[in-house]
Amino acid sequence: MNVLLITLDAFRKDLVSGSHTPYLSKISKEGVTFDNAISTGSGTSSSFPGILASSLPMDYGYAKFRPEHVTLAEQLDSTTIGISSSLPTSSIYNFNRGFNRWNDNVDNSYLGEIRKVIRENDWLLRLGEKAIKIGEKMFDSDNSPSYTPANEVTDTALSELNKCNKNDNFLWAHYMETHTPYFPPEEFQFGSPSEGIPTVNKHIDSYNKNKPKVNSPTTPEDTSSIIPKSVRSSMEKYYKSEAKFLDREIKRLVEGAKRHLEEVTVIICADHGEEFFEHGHFGHQPKLYEELVNVPLIVYSTSSDIAEKNIRRPTSLLNIPPTVCDLLDRAPADNWRGESLLSILDEGRSDENPKVISELCHSADQGLGGPINRDKAIISVRSDEWKYILNNQIEKDRLYNLKKDEKEKENVVDDHPEIGDKLRRIAEDRLAEITNDSDSESSNGDISDNVEDRLEELGYINS
Ligand SMILES: [Zn+2]
Repeated sequence: MNVLLITLDAFRKDLVSGSHTPYLSKISKEGVTFDNAISTGSGTSSSFPGILASSLPMDYGYAKFRPEHVTLAEQLDSTTIGISSSLPTSSIYNFNRGFNRWNDNVDNSYLGEIRKVIRENDWLLRLGEKAIKIGEKMFDSDNSPSYTPANEVTDTALSELNKCNKNDNFLWAHYMETHTPYFPPEEFQFGSPSEGIPTVNKHIDSYNKNKPKVNSPTTPEDTSSIIPKSVRSSMEKYYKSEAKFLDREIKRLVEGAKRHLEEVTVIICADHGEEFFEHGHFGHQPKLYEELVNVPLIVYSTSSDIAEKNIRRPTSLLNIPPTVCDLLDRAPADNWRGESLLSILDEGRSDENPKVISELCHSADQGLGGPINRDKAIISVRSDEWKYILNNQIEKDRLYNLKKDEKEKENVVDDHPEIGDKLRRIAEDRLAEITNDSDSESSNGDISDNVEDRLEELGYINS
């Protein structure tokens, strides 16, 4: 068996539709689709501890893999190939750990220097956002993507697979196209957007720079008026055009892999979704609503054992690492939380009602994340019908009935005290398990100034 894990950044579940993504739609029908796949967090940094290390973000921290994490690639005996297209999933944040063959876009000497500095200094994670901006400067983000384009990711993946034996390989490829800024190739653009790409990206950039407050009791709920209506409508069209481009690249990768390898199972998911003002904001802010954490998850295989099923029960993405181990005949790591999705398929446990947790503990201005801090924890507990959100940042809890109110508009925590209490206890039990980072792990001190100076000397930050 061979396994491809394909992750799509900021790719909403509703993008999997016949018109924009015919290939994804086709394989989702032929394979197993999880209708309620839940990411462990709402951003890249809080989701990948689940996807690649079967842990919740506040187990060992997030934004980079720490020594306590056992990564999927480390647990495998197979040939392991990793292809990262963005800085937050790069070797800077230890995403390369365990891979026999590794490709990212951090191979030039300037970023290599930054990588070294960040590796040596744990607290530098606080500068995560800055580091990304530095990375983006390297690539002239006004005119071209600050990430490796999908066609190059696919080309690299296929050329790596061509060097492999026909069996026992694991390949992870991460695609960035549906993350801002948008640069869909012309042949995939549709819907006649009224605004051009530079205008749309300029508005997105300015929205992000003047980040409206998230999780503040005084925040106006709706920030959509910051971006003119015509720009918002064009944004959505470019976003869907990027999905259309990705669909072709996923097809090229999967069909190419099927030609070269013997049996192949492909797992496709998003790391998180994207909010288009459903709850007042744009992007993937530190919030845990469905448009951010209920993501596509498709398991498609050339093996007839894995076919044509829809699984409705809520399923966490942290089940992915044990699933890959199961497919490649390896035991899961001792500290992983998940279980193999294949066991869910076999047993068809439709009568169970699992509670799936997502969480984070950073504020919008902390970029990729900060120290583990229970006082800033936001934890959601998702059952088939209900979603409860504990929010220590504003000390207000919320309960939504997803069967009647899938858009999570009406907080019914006061109307259903017994359900609220039951789910709140699960969130509080989870909170009680979490240990804050010690000062030494999270302290910033004077050293950050030194590093900022050093980065400035290198020409990446303007004072
Ligand atoms: Zn992401």
